[in-house]
Amino acid sequence: MNTNMRVPRYNYAAQFDADIEAICARVRSILLRGDYDQSPENAAFEEAFALFNGTRYARTVGCGTDALVLTLRALRIGAGDEVIVQANTFYATAAAIALAGATPVLADADDETYLIDMQSVRAALSPRTRAVIPVHLYGKPTPMQELSELSARHGFFIIEDAAQAHGAKIHGRNVGTFGIAGCFSFHASKNLSAAGDGGCVITDSLDLAQAIRAHRTHGQLVQHEHLVLGTNSKLDAIQATILHSKLSKLPQWNRLRREKARRYHDLLRDLPLGFQREDSLEEHVYHLFTIRTRERDSLLAHLRDQGIDAVVRYPCPIHLQPAFAAYDWRRGQFPVAEQLAEQLLCLPIRPDISDAEQEYVAAHVRSYFGVHAS
Ligand SMILES: *Cc1c(COP(=O)(O)O)cnc(C)c1O
Repeated sequence: MNTNMRVPRYNYAAQFDADIEAICARVRSILLRGDYDQSPENAAFEEAFALFNGTRYARTVGCGTDALVLTLRALRIGAGDEVIVQANTFYATAAAIALAGATPVLADADDETYLIDMQSVRAALSPRTRAVIPVHLYGKPTPMQELSELSARHGFFIIEDAAQAHGAKIHGRNVGTFGIAGCFSFHASKNLSAAGDGGCVITDSLDLAQAIRAHRTHGQLVQHEHLVLGTNSKLDAIQATILHSKLSKLPQWNRLRREKARRYHDLLRDLPLGFQREDSLEEHVYHLFTIRTRERDSLLAHLRDQGIDAVVRYPCPIHLQPAFAAYDWRRGQFPVAEQLAEQLLCLPIRPDISDAEQEYVAAHVRSYFGVHAS
């Protein structure tokens, strides 16, 4: 075993191949042409991303956070309205609700899937509930059937946070297509990434697609007619052309991520670890590969000492973040989310991670537990 290996979380060079010359040529022509933000590249990417997901419309925006905020605003969800979200998500999901002027209401996580817990959602429902935002966390699709039935019965919207799950599927159907809208991020860390920030909302609703268009361009559908209190949140032509080029490789990358995850499962079998449950009718796309242990912090330090870029996502649940102090949430209120924050660790996973890298990571997880390679 190579004792001086480094196993990084990202390898951007591996996301490009011979196509990098073609991308650079397109960027060059965009630079010389102008027309940066109402660009044909943007329209072409929107069409391709809608087709990829199987929705009528895709509307690009400046980032994943704006995808959520603008969707809420476009659905006229704001002051006095409640939106339910899980306590174990990235800050932006909960912040988007507050930034739109609505009240975030938290649900706990499921102990095996780490996704939103349905019993907790039912307990959190009120006459003011206007939406539930399930997060397809770490790339695992949230089961949608029960939530869809509840949504039909209670009349709230489902807005999917698919920022970590581009191309993940349930019964062959892409996440982001089950609710009124699916919200995506193209931040550099995500499975489909721009060279900077970007985001997108997909939907079958023409009304919502039009409203997102207005909200992302100062409330306008035609120039100088400001219909709603919109903001400025657009994807530029350069990002659109990069994303469009990468989109054709995403299915292969997701396949590879699933293979690498299976390999980790094999290599780490028989260790005292928990794993996010995988269900047979879904396609988890392993944005992150998590392992669960009570000894998380010391295992993390051990792996980092060995040059392995393991990280914690997320070390502090929403209800304990200072930014949300005004909501009067207490420690102990969402016990599963708190436990996950203390026990989950992400091992490096990339479409291009090599067998040798995975063996090296697994060998050091095993050595921590005093178990040697089988
Ligand atoms: C990344 C992410 C976001 C926010 O996306 P940005 O593009 O960084 O604004 C929202 N929700 C989840 C679950 C994310 O992982």
